Amino acid sequence: MKILENYSLKNHNTLAVDCYCDQFAEIKSLSDLEALPKDIKITEMLIMGCGSNILFTENLSRFVVQFKPRKHITIVDNLVVAWAGTPWNDLVNWAVNKNLGGIENLALIPGLVGAAPFQNIGAYGTELQDSLVWVEVYNWQTGLYHRLSNEECLFSYRHSIFKYHDQPWIISRIGLDLRNDKPVNISYQPLQEKFAGQSKNPSFKKVAQAVTEIRQSKLPDPYKIPNAGSFFKNPVIDSQVAQRIQRRHKDLPIFETKHCEGQKTSAAWLLEQCGFKGHREGDAGFYDKHALILVNHGNASGQDLLKMTKMAKRAVKIKFGIVLEEEVRVL
Ligand SMILES: Cc1cc2nc3c(=O)[nH]c(=O)nc-3n(C[C@H](O)[C@H](O)[C@H](O)COP(=O)(O)OP(=O)(O)OC[C@H]3O[C@@H](n4cnc5c(N)ncnc54)[C@H](O)[C@@H]3O)c2cc1C
Repeated sequence: MKILENYSLKNHNTLAVDCYCDQFAEIKSLSDLEALPKDIKITEMLIMGCGSNILFTENLSRFVVQFKPRKHITIVDNLVVAWAGTPWNDLVNWAVNKNLGGIENLALIPGLVGAAPFQNIGAYGTELQDSLVWVEVYNWQTGLYHRLSNEECLFSYRHSIFKYHDQPWIISRIGLDLRNDKPVNISYQPLQEKFAGQSKNPSFKKVAQAVTEIRQSKLPDPYKIPNAGSFFKNPVIDSQVAQRIQRRHKDLPIFETKHCEGQKTSAAWLLEQCGFKGHREGDAGFYDKHALILVNHGNASGQDLLKMTKMAKRAVKIKFGIVLEEEVRVL
């Protein structure tokens, strides 16, 4: 394993922010993991997949390890086991081509398998936690592997135990329960529209294709327009807050979800009401077709982008009394 010093991460994050780290190493296999120095403190390490959920705001005094994309998927004891470096969408395609269901609604989410449990990725009414059985972690300080069950991962909406950052853990593999008899979930409005007048039970592959088409029509390709997907989480609000806002804004979107208590509203809608859809200052801005997506139009620095997100947060707090929480990890 080669360790590079003073390395630029500009080509390693989808917001294309230029930032340097003290040391950088690429992980291709378990033996690379096991070769990592054991004396690195938790605060001095950063583990990365494709950098599609990170905003760098300053140079990092850290040892950055990044998984090199490499597909490795097997079936063991009826579970689908994927290596952390497997591109997430390759896993979805692999599964639907084998008529195995459970993650088809998560098609086209950028990034690698190892990052998926970190924020319990979710889309179109499905979350990773619905199919995940275990997560294997490598403890770089002890050199031991450990398996966490679904319950031990403490999953909730875009959250997991891995966000606490108080363990020297690198996610190395995940085990998923994907089966051909799982029910498809096309309850989300855009999917219902896609399948209107068609079979009520489309194949997993058809659902993944529909999700892919919807996403391609709505979201900017991060490799053409640098972005990190939804910048903020959809806020969970109680019914009193919802009623207070609805007195002045009857069209406030409200959706119930099985994945969290309370009602969720749309962060994109809140930002749009505050005028952030398409808003741009220099090279930092929000996408003109989707207010929740922070974009780098060229050479925005991490600080430019951070300033834009702080402005947006402040505006939503003042207008609606709701505090938006970042979905993207800000470093
Ligand atoms: C256009 C676009 C659309 C998106 N849509 C969605 C969506 O619909 N739903 C959704 O949930 N997300 C979405 N995202 C966010 C992002 O794709 C996911 O969070 C993805 O899982 C990040 O993968 P990554 O490999 O890029 O991780 P990175 O951004 O590199 O890392 C994300 C976090 O995971 C940690 N991490 C990464 N790998 C490991 C590992 N092996 N062990 C321990 N920790 C690790 C990192 O330290 C970091 O904190 C979107 C992003 C973009 C750009």
